[in-house]
Amino acid sequence: MKTSVIGFSRIGRNRELKFASEKFFKGEIQETELQDVAREIRELNLTTQKHAGIDLIASNDFSFYDNVLDTAFLFNIIPQRYKDLGLSELQTYFAAARGYQGEKGNVKALAMKKWFNTNYHYIVPEFEDDTKIQLVGNKPVDEYVEARNLGVETKVQIVGPFTFLKLTKFVGNKKAEDIAETLTAEYGALFSKLSSAGASWIQIDEPYLVRDLDEQDKVLFKKIYGQLLSDKKGLKVLLQTYFGDVRDVYEEITSLDVDAIGLDFLEGIKTLSLLKEKGFPKEKILVAGVVNGKNIWKNSYEKTNGILNEIKTSVNEDNLYIGTSCSLLHVPYTLESETKLPAEYKKHFAFAEEKLVELHELSGLSKETLAANQALFETRVDSVDEDVRQRVAAIKESDYTRLPVFEEREAIQKKALGLPIFPTTTIGSFPQTADVRKNRSDFRKGEISKTEYVEFNRKKIEECIRLQEELGLDVLVHGEFERNDMVEYFGEHLSGYVFTEKAWVLSYGTRCVKPPIIWGDVSRKESITVEWSRFAKSCTDKPVKGMLTGPVTILNWSFPREDITIKESVLQIALAIRDEVLDLEANGINIIQIDEAALREKLPLRKSDWYSEYLDFAIPAFRLVHSGVKAETQIHTHMCYSEFTDIIPAIDSMDADVITFEASRSDLQILDALKENHFKTEVGPGVYDIHSPRVPSVEELVGQLTKIREKTEDSKLWVNPDCGLKTRGEEETVKSLRNLVEAAKIIREKA
Ligand code: GLN
Ligand code: ZN
Repeated sequence: MKTSVIGFSRIGRNRELKFASEKFFKGEIQETELQDVAREIRELNLTTQKHAGIDLIASNDFSFYDNVLDTAFLFNIIPQRYKDLGLSELQTYFAAARGYQGEKGNVKALAMKKWFNTNYHYIVPEFEDDTKIQLVGNKPVDEYVEARNLGVETKVQIVGPFTFLKLTKFVGNKKAEDIAETLTAEYGALFSKLSSAGASWIQIDEPYLVRDLDEQDKVLFKKIYGQLLSDKKGLKVLLQTYFGDVRDVYEEITSLDVDAIGLDFLEGIKTLSLLKEKGFPKEKILVAGVVNGKNIWKNSYEKTNGILNEIKTSVNEDNLYIGTSCSLLHVPYTLESETKLPAEYKKHFAFAEEKLVELHELSGLSKETLAANQALFETRVDSVDEDVRQRVAAIKESDYTRLPVFEEREAIQKKALGLPIFPTTTIGSFPQTADVRKNRSDFRKGEISKTEYVEFNRKKIEECIRLQEELGLDVLVHGEFERNDMVEYFGEHLSGYVFTEKAWVLSYGTRCVKPPIIWGDVSRKESITVEWSRFAKSCTDKPVKGMLTGPVTILNWSFPREDITIKESVLQIALAIRDEVLDLEANGINIIQIDEAALREKLPLRKSDWYSEYLDFAIPAFRLVHSGVKAETQIHTHMCYSEFTDIIPAIDSMDADVITFEASRSDLQILDALKENHFKTEVGPGVYDIHSPRVPSVEELVGQLTKIREKTEDSKLWVNPDCGLKTRGEEETVKSLRNLVEAAKIIREKA
């Protein structure tokens, strides 16, 4: 069997692209140097895959920021405000991705959203009515030629026109249907260019096909593909889907004039039955996604072989290729960088490079390889904890409900806390400056003592509290200087986790996260955040908010187990965090924020599966965490970068007292939805975007708050940035917060 990889990690084996880009953003290196780093990364990726014996390797899977944004730029779908800056092409691109503030002007970044059900975020293209769609870029061709010059014949990956249109925001009167024909014609122009450059395969990614599609979507899809495939310009086309099954359009897809179809057999719960019931055209190639592109566990060859054998009853073996279930962008680069992970753990994992080996081994599986792989699954050290199992089994229905009810609590808390109207606060972290990171890494390496480490953090906390007092914020935070990451930090203090050193996965732009791995049953070993919060509280008379990560986010941003259910895992974590909540409360912390930044992330892509497959256990798990606190204790939660307008009732039933969320990038649409749903929870819609270094002016913030007030009851409104400040510089943070407090004062006078 032949092998295919949808796309590879692009940040670099040691995150070279991240470091080079950040230098470029600061003006420390020139564009040519950044381009050199990018070229080296692409070269290593291609040669690594070639040496591993992969047959269909992707080019154009590289991006400086995001592939959807690349596609928009390729076709000249660039809002005028970025063009007007008069910057170089790459700088214009970065202005759209990150916002721009400088001598040429001042513009916000485009919106950013979660890429399907992953923790990767794409940039939302914006279409203005007078945009002239035109193939103006050459990136796919350049990267194809570059690969060929390195001796690697690639398939050229491109975001498909249907997915692109479905993800684009139309800011004028035009709709996807109005521009589909023109856009498709320009894809055709790209086909011609690729063909003249000598390319033979194009891989068109259409992950949107795994979502629920209505009649209008199907018409759009058929129209686009009818047009696009009427002249393939001599290219072979691989229509690639991932993140689920294509149950709504299986017949439509299999009857298209494409040469190969990529289907996901892991997350696509119905893929196999579709194939068996409806058959598969015998002249086409099926690229079967059987090696998990999202998780890091070793592939069970026995299981995979079982799937492949079933597929072979419907597909001719010569036409069966095996592939990854999605791009390897979503897993870390290589296990080779893990020098500290003991072998008895390590042997159970496979990162991107190791997945290449798996594909190769699976393509011609020998008895010995199969037996060795099977033996692995029979041994697994320290994964069961009987106490944890019993505690989960003993959870009662009433443990999921906090009493008294919200309305009663709200009144009690207003009285007890005595906050002004429109209370100001932040989301938790303050800038993680070089000294903060150095303190942590020195401690980790054993270069400073625990006392020195703690003293430094205490000094930072005290400064942070002083700063917040001076700025005039109402609810203070300790600043999270002890945390590398909101999930890894908790994982480190819970038993059942294992950690990696370099297992970075791209989250957005150049930002990576290093998800810990849930290895066994989870429990809290000792108090986690209490000492820091207590210390912060001792520095001030103002309320200090305790800061925790919720169970759903901890689970969603970890690599989950595959040997127990997700529901069982999340309840174990919820009990551990519940212990921490009660511990904070017992130590006098009467406002506690439990972040659920990633709540929506694992929401099934199809609506019909939302409650039964996910929300029915995720929301109760959150309630279990805080149901034990007193009425006076105010529970906050925070969510970011996602469209949650459609799960508002579920969010309200998390039964928190206050929720802060990202809103500044998505034009406040969510507020209408809150109103329509009679949202009871108090809200802090982020008034400015912290993902960009731009400082919002007082006028802008007052404007934003005025708009928010039209849609929200004054008594329920909080004022805060849209997320934590850890990635920001100190100077811009102080300026922005000063303006935020000033803006709150101004609107208080109007209230
Ligand atoms: N409390 C976290 C912080 O401030 C929240 C981060 C997040 O939502 N991504 O950094
Ligand atoms: Zn956030």
